[in-house]
Amino acid sequence: MEGLNNYRTLLAKIDEMTTGISAAHAADIACRKGCDRCCRHLSLFPVEGVALAVAFRSLSADRALFIRAKARSATADGPCPLLENGECALYAHRPIICRTHGLPVLVTEEGGQRLDFCPLNFTNAESLSGDAVVDLEKLNTLLAAVNKLFVTECWERKIVGKERLSLAEALLL
Ligand code: SF4
Repeated sequence: MEGLNNYRTLLAKIDEMTTGISAAHAADIACRKGCDRCCRHLSLFPVEGVALAVAFRSLSADRALFIRAKARSATADGPCPLLENGECALYAHRPIICRTHGLPVLVTEEGGQRLDFCPLNFTNAESLSGDAVVDLEKLNTLLAAVNKLFVTECWERKIVGKERLSLAEALLL
């Protein structure tokens, strides 16, 4: 879908950044295939939801049926419906926030900023350099801009009144 090109460009840039951080700090990062501690049910911008829905069409009918059944009963704070045996059924197409899982992130909230990262990672690190940290506010600002363009150009009529959708809703589009 052409309207998703900006989003795909952003994904590529974020992959470049997160791959660089993971490579530079490989000794401090315990993330591995099979660990699904971060994979909780998410809410998405429409552009992310549509991109995931498009990728979902690549799964076999049986798998899609099974995952849709999980999506129908997914709860807000439960496991992600795309989680299968500890792995992501659409790993190559996972949303942006999933690409930062495990890495140190700077979270901006009312009252200031805080650093957050998986407690399994950086257990022996005494300090963290700025280039190892993903600024979630900056990342969300970029994503919001890409989403705004997408919604205006491609999706406006279908999501009236809906600024975000759950990952399960995206799979059921
Ligand atoms: S989309 Fe994939 S990586 Fe993201 S939370 Fe779901 S299972 Fe995990």
